[in-house]
Amino acid sequence: MKYGMTKKISSTIELFLDANSVVVLTGAGVSTESGIPDFRGKTGIWKEFNPIVYGNVTTLQNDPRFFWELAKKIAPAILSAKPNPGHYALAELEKLGKIKCVITQNIDGLHQKAGSINVFEVHGSVFNDFICVKCSTAFPYEEAIPKASIGIPKCDLCGGFLKPDVVLFGDSLPEDQICGSQEAIKKADLMIVAGSALEVFPVNQLPQILVNQGGKVIIVNDEPTWLDGIADVVFHEKTGIILPKIVEGLKKKL
Ligand code: NAD
Repeated sequence: MKYGMTKKISSTIELFLDANSVVVLTGAGVSTESGIPDFRGKTGIWKEFNPIVYGNVTTLQNDPRFFWELAKKIAPAILSAKPNPGHYALAELEKLGKIKCVITQNIDGLHQKAGSINVFEVHGSVFNDFICVKCSTAFPYEEAIPKASIGIPKCDLCGGFLKPDVVLFGDSLPEDQICGSQEAIKKADLMIVAGSALEVFPVNQLPQILVNQGGKVIIVNDEPTWLDGIADVVFHEKTGIILPKIVEGLKKKL
């Protein structure tokens, strides 16, 4: 391990030992090592698909073909993905009683597959019910996915298009998940941000909220983020490498 990294891991362990309540905020970067592309990384999806057209709720309502073109491109990777060492490390931190929850922007369900229990999915999940954009009827994910494999999935009752329960630009965030995250953050004094460019509002405000209430922040992201300056420790490394090292370091102190 490089000297700089060893020192940062020790500082991270010290921050953990001093903290009373630790929360984790994850983004698409934590799942790239499971084969799911992120949006803004070097080979991110937005390099090929314009987010204003493909990731926007108004476009979906007017013409669902764009959204479903993108959804069909990334769905196979999401549906077949398995957790990676970063996800497992976070699940282990929860089991060890070292973190209270994972607040994730991801929609891939991989934290739960790795064994994390207290997960807030603030941008929804592809495994939740799909909703008809016209009459709001809910369709279980198991019913909606086969419909999507033969075209744009439609509502059996009114013929409207189905939308997975994922947050697009212009959508509001799921209230229960946001409230749960806010409650956890109120009590927290340390946050690890893992694999997020921190570009998406309002979730990208959460680290600053924690700092404003006197808490500390650790960022693990393979590229710089605009919030690196407020963090106490910054790793420009892969989450699948750093998160297991944090677990290893903490276990030595148990
Ligand atoms: P983002 O794409 O904006 O940022 C991801 C960041 O992670 C980038 O800075 C990238 O350089 C970094 N990164 C990539 N691989 C990494 C690794 N192995 N280790 C460390 N860093 C790594 O993603 P975001 O901040 O989550 O925000 C974008 C939106 O994308 C979110 O709303 C999320 O819902 C959605 N999204 C989710 C998935 C998923 O569920 N897996 C995939 C793509 C996009």
